[in-house]
Amino acid sequence: MYCTECGSDLVLKEVKKEGDIPYCKNCNKLFFPKVDLAMIAILTNSKNQVCLINQKNRLDYKVLIAGFIKPGENLEECVRREIKEEVGVEVSNCNYLNSHFYEANNVMMVGYHAETFDEELIIDDDEVECASWFDYDNVIGRIRDGSIADKLYKQFYETTKSRMGDNNEEVN
Ligand SMILES: [Zn+2]
Repeated sequence: MYCTECGSDLVLKEVKKEGDIPYCKNCNKLFFPKVDLAMIAILTNSKNQVCLINQKNRLDYKVLIAGFIKPGENLEECVRREIKEEVGVEVSNCNYLNSHFYEANNVMMVGYHAETFDEELIIDDDEVECASWFDYDNVIGRIRDGSIADKLYKQFYETTKSRMGDNNEEVN
């Protein structure tokens, strides 16, 4: 590894509690490991349906909409932009759910629930093969088991189900 400032060879320097961290003697600068940041969104409409997509040329499993943060953008802006780009709907509301570290790609995936009043999906042909709405009960099994999308959706489904159950009890 080389210093991104001056090009010198980096050496390992022991940092308390952090372990050995690459270090440039010339610049007196530590290079802490970096991760990429991306958002992944459960997009729902007012009929309690979830938007699942197939990525271009990937017909095996459906996925949730996800994308990398652009410099200068916050996570909520990224959610709104990616959803608008990929399936052409306006997000009315978005809320943080939880986050999962995707080790294989060194990416922190930040999970959101995004809501829209739009129903017509207009897909971006370059990135998306197809997109459709699925009832909440009809999502698990369409997403790859054990994936981050699957974990995120199962948690959303559990909390949403129990909340809907509570509402029904109040009505009765
Ligand atoms: Zn340097």
